[in-house]
Amino acid sequence: MVTRLYTHPIFLEHITPPGHPERPDRLRAIERVLDDEAFAALDRAEAPEGDEATILYAHPEQFVARVRAAIPDTGIARIDADTTASPKSWQAAVTAIGAANAAVDDVFERRADNVFVAARPPGHHAEKTTSMGFCLFNTAAIAARYAQRKHGAERVAIVDWDVHHGNGTQDIFWDDPSVLYCSTHQMPLYPGTGARSETGAGNIVNAPLAPRTGSDMFRDAFLSRVLPALDNFAPDLIIISAGFDAHHRDPLAEINLTEDDFDWATGQLIECAGRHSGNRLVSLLEGGYDLQGLAFSVAAHVGRLMKG
Ligand SMILES: [Zn+2]
Repeated sequence: MVTRLYTHPIFLEHITPPGHPERPDRLRAIERVLDDEAFAALDRAEAPEGDEATILYAHPEQFVARVRAAIPDTGIARIDADTTASPKSWQAAVTAIGAANAAVDDVFERRADNVFVAARPPGHHAEKTTSMGFCLFNTAAIAARYAQRKHGAERVAIVDWDVHHGNGTQDIFWDDPSVLYCSTHQMPLYPGTGARSETGAGNIVNAPLAPRTGSDMFRDAFLSRVLPALDNFAPDLIIISAGFDAHHRDPLAEINLTEDDFDWATGQLIECAGRHSGNRLVSLLEGGYDLQGLAFSVAAHVGRLMKG
């Protein structure tokens, strides 16, 4: 297996207010843990400059212009109660999209079997016309549509194990059966969506987890809901919305996973990608707010991506 890692210094320059959980130190913690010699074989690459036009694959032009206009020249601008932008946020968001799209190119053009994109801001809460939940644009949704337009992928699956429901991804693909969206998440919890009854065009599979559940319920949801849906769909590409805030140390939620669970889930998706997608697997960082929990979880996830 060749596993590529995309990072970029610009991701540290999306500045959030003091005390905000979605902070540059998250990426520093990931960089530190992946510095270990266990990850020497990672194919490290700097994220390319993103193509702004691809934002329109998932968001209308007027909305994109509105976000651009909200970027401040100095200081921090508030977009909603918990979503903010600093002067370099636009460039960070566009580079995150560039990295995700490049990862799609890499797996379709066989430069890598799988890719992990360590970028911020995250994306899965961004709806068609709303930035929210620390997210400006929906990077995973754009990458899915990019795979369809550029590489002719007919079916793309997005598996979202962030502890929060990816309301944005669900919104964007609600009536688009060419994209399967599967999510495990705590419920009730922000943003409030993600009930089992929300099924879109039959392409939305929500597996809500009650607060204070852990490994057993998560793995059961994966085995009984997510994996059967994936096997039935037979995707040409699997994208992971890889949030690590279901880790037991995380301060924003109450699901008690360990890094072993992320190792296990990664293994399940690698096998699934082997069955259906020619191994093509692209993983995009979403949440994860306890620095140690995040670092250990990313190490387990990337280690498994490399092992295959
Ligand atoms: Zn989250």
